Amino acid sequence: MLTEFEFIENLKKKHSLTKIGDDCAVIPKDSKTDLVITTDLLVEDIDFRLDWSKPEFIGHKSLAVSLSDVAAMGAKPVWSMVSIGVPERIWKTDFVDEFYKGYLNLAEKYGVELIGGDVSKTPDKIVIDSIAAGEVEKGKAILRSGAKIGDVICVSGCLGGASAGLKLLENGVREENAASWQLGLILQQLAPYPFLEPVEFHPKFRFPEINSLATAMIDISDGLSLDLRHICEASSVGARIFAEKIPLHRRLRGMTKIFEEQLNFAIHGGEDFELLYTKNSKKISASKTTEFGVIGEVTGNVGIIELIIDSKSQFLTSKGFQHF
Ligand code: ADP
Ligand code: MG
Repeated sequence: MLTEFEFIENLKKKHSLTKIGDDCAVIPKDSKTDLVITTDLLVEDIDFRLDWSKPEFIGHKSLAVSLSDVAAMGAKPVWSMVSIGVPERIWKTDFVDEFYKGYLNLAEKYGVELIGGDVSKTPDKIVIDSIAAGEVEKGKAILRSGAKIGDVICVSGCLGGASAGLKLLENGVREENAASWQLGLILQQLAPYPFLEPVEFHPKFRFPEINSLATAMIDISDGLSLDLRHICEASSVGARIFAEKIPLHRRLRGMTKIFEEQLNFAIHGGEDFELLYTKNSKKISASKTTEFGVIGEVTGNVGIIELIIDSKSQFLTSKGFQHF
């Protein structure tokens, strides 16, 4: 059976579809601007569960995952569309109102205008299609394919929180009964924020200038190990990452005191929605860099990701999330 990524690769090749393969498709708008556009499908009991989340969070997350893909292109989100298919028993409740409350709150925060969508009925489960579009200076969209040997590999924030939150939800912890450290992890899973500047920018919070520095970028949706592989494949390079440099979600300590287990959440757990990017290293070896978020370096070992723990190297297999 094909994996979903093999399916997409085959589709691209078979039909010569050149715009598929990045976090967003890039389309020329005018002489100064390119448009970027992305779609994400969220299916009840596969991508979210009604007994784990609430309608407001499902609305929030539906938009957040698409805005994260716009952020991953170095673009500014501007418009969105959302289509919903719901069974009649859900239609009769306040689900849809609450869904839009969460969705539109997030849209307002990032200056995004909802410009359309569609409604249909499903026999059993809720299905949501979330589209977001944005703008970027012409030719400046940051692709997965731009990583160069010697670049350093960076993440925009701490990892592992969302997958630890998922584990807590699987173990029966809910928003209502969670201890405060658990709540931080659960909310990271249920209502993540994309790595974008909000409209009301807090002057104390300095956003790093990722967009002007990154040579390649992707958002961490499937997990660091898998998303780094996407960059390596698109850029025809390899990677070396240093376990001790990976910023861990501070609440992971509540889950486990064992470093390897914390690392497992951060490396293989998905849905952190931080950005993973490469930038020119100015010849500083990543192993000697103390800058927050620098986790490794791009190598010439095409397709191979090395993980260094305690100065020992091992090959990293990608165990992130795949539907098929
Ligand atoms: P992301 O995790 O960033 O949303 P995906 O892994 O879902 O990206 O998709 C990778 C690329 O494949 C994207 O360019 C996406 O638009 C494309 N793609 C995914 N599914 C399909 C599909 N069913 N038909 C055509 N293109 C697809
Ligand atoms: Mg993405």
